[in-house]
Amino acid sequence: MKLAVVPGDGIGKEVIPVALAVLDAFGLDIEKVPLEIGYGKWERTGSALTDEDMSVIKECDCVLFGAITTPPDPNYKSVLMRLRKELDLYANIRPFAPLANVKLPCNKKVFDFVIVRENTEGMYSGIEELHENVAYTTRVISRKGSERIAENACSIAKKRKKHITVVHKANVLKSDSFFRDICTGVARRNGISYNEMLVDAMAYDLVLRPEKYDVLVTTNLFGDILSDVAAAISGGLGLCPSANIGNRHALFEPIHGSAPDIAGRGIANPIASILSVRMMLQWMGLETEAQVLGNAVDSVIQKGIVSPDMGGSYSTIEVGNAIAAKVINVP
Ligand code: ATP
Repeated sequence: MKLAVVPGDGIGKEVIPVALAVLDAFGLDIEKVPLEIGYGKWERTGSALTDEDMSVIKECDCVLFGAITTPPDPNYKSVLMRLRKELDLYANIRPFAPLANVKLPCNKKVFDFVIVRENTEGMYSGIEELHENVAYTTRVISRKGSERIAENACSIAKKRKKHITVVHKANVLKSDSFFRDICTGVARRNGISYNEMLVDAMAYDLVLRPEKYDVLVTTNLFGDILSDVAAAISGGLGLCPSANIGNRHALFEPIHGSAPDIAGRGIANPIASILSVRMMLQWMGLETEAQVLGNAVDSVIQKGIVSPDMGGSYSTIEVGNAIAAKVINVP
């Protein structure tokens, strides 16, 4: 197994080495390929991600990715969007369930749902025009893109409650009634029950009644926004992992960005990145290791070894070391 490691910028440079140290504690046979990609590289060289970086990444099976700060250049094209497109990572999988002993902002303590977000088209199609007095972005919803994300959601639902919620804005957008009809058709074909939600109502209900939901499938921008709502009710961005899955490659990253406001202080919460490693272990079929890692994270949180965003006083490295020690000490 060959793993490209891209810490990126800001707190990505702090949390990814810690997550990697936790992975190393398992002693698995994984070849790591470190890559400098991002804002720092753009400042130095004028390019955040070169074609050569891209071919190195394509030779790897998967990527562990931190976060990239967006350079202040109107012509800059998002690195993450390019990676998702060129590696065809069409499914963005984001699980949300409160971890043991984590203080939540609302009184809902029990929920467990997954957001399955289409990751290569929609509002992030990259088809844009900027004129002097008007700007356009083309929202692309294709049959192929909608079918495969709906299939992905159904395959996740088959292992869970056999139900999906299709989230859209079909009352206003024709492209979304197209998306909705394809998703519901795929659900019927798979014997999966479904309901529909308008995205605005979904955002509202997710805060009030998250326990009602199991697998949500939606388009790119809606999934992006709903994920932050879901992260807030789950205890914060520092805790939430994600997987970008394609047929040949996969990329694992925390939901949060490069957090320039706290970068360089050694206080970033590494748990989102460590749980992204856990999703990577699951993708590799290493269920036992994934289980061990999940238990290690729970146990360290229960002991109160947490970073300031969770009310603790431990550093990024201290939290990571405590989790790695739990992994190493498993009998
Ligand atoms: P970017 O421009 O890279 O998206 P951002 O600051 O706009 O960065 P996030 O990085 O997602 O967006 O951060 C949003 C807020 O959440 C910030 O106040 C940040 O400090 C906080 N935050 C994000 N990730 C973490 C983390 N791992 N640990 C602690 N706080 C975090």
